[in-house]
Amino acid sequence: MISDLMKLVDKFVGGFKKRLYGKTFFCPVCHLELSYYDVDVNGNLVCPLCGVVIELHETYGHSIPIVNDVEINRAQPKKRLHPLATHFPIGLFPLAFLGALIITIASAYIKASGTNSLECGFCRDISPVLDNITWIFLFIAVLSSGFTFLTGFLDWKQRYGGRPYRVITLKLVLSGLFIGIGIVILILHPVVFTAGVIPFENPVMIPVTFVYFVLMGSAMFMLATLGHVGGYLVFGK
Ligand SMILES: [Zn+2]
Repeated sequence: MISDLMKLVDKFVGGFKKRLYGKTFFCPVCHLELSYYDVDVNGNLVCPLCGVVIELHETYGHSIPIVNDVEINRAQPKKRLHPLATHFPIGLFPLAFLGALIITIASAYIKASGTNSLECGFCRDISPVLDNITWIFLFIAVLSSGFTFLTGFLDWKQRYGGRPYRVITLKLVLSGLFIGIGIVILILHPVVFTAGVIPFENPVMIPVTFVYFVLMGSAMFMLATLGHVGGYLVFGK
C-alpha cells in the first residue's frame, strides 16, 4: 500500500522535476539524480548528498561522471535542524486536510437530508471542536513551514555553500508557494467554516469550498514533492 503510494508520488514528482532539471545524470557514489545545470563552467560539481567532487565528461552522447575528490568534515544530515523541522508541516497538514474533509462531508449530509446542525449530534457537539483543532493544526503547519524554510535556507548557504543546485531551486520555489497558499487557506478557513459547519444553504459557499479544497490539494502536492526530494537529499536513493 505505502510502496504503491510512493510510486504514485514518484510519478507525479518525476514529471514536475523533468521540466526544471532538464537532462540529468546520477552521482556515481550515492546515485542522487543531478541536473546538467548544477555543473559549473569547468564541468565540475560537488554532490550535495555525499560530498564527492565530480567532473562531468560528455562522450558519444553519454555523460561520464568522474569522482576527483571528497569534501570532508560535513555535518551529518540527520543531526541538522531542517530535516527535523520538516516533520511539523508534513505531519500536521494532512491531519488538517482530513479534519476539513470530515466537516465538509457532515455539512453536505445536513444539506442533503434537509436537517439543521442542531438536530445532528455530530455537527452540534463534535464538529465545532474538530473545526478548532483543524484550524490550530493548519496554523502550526503554516507557521512551522516558515521556520522550516528558514532552517533549509541557512543549511543551503552553509552546508551546500549556496551552490545553485536545481533540487534546491525546486525546494525554494515550492516552499515559498506552500507558505503563500497556506496563508490564503488560513484566511479562507473561517470564511468557509462557521461554528463547525459549512452553511451550504448559502449557494456562494459551494464555489468557495471548491476553491478552498483546490488550494488544500495543491498544498498537499507541494508538501509531498518537498518531502520526496528532501528525503533523497538526506537518505539518498
Ligand atoms: Zn553523491
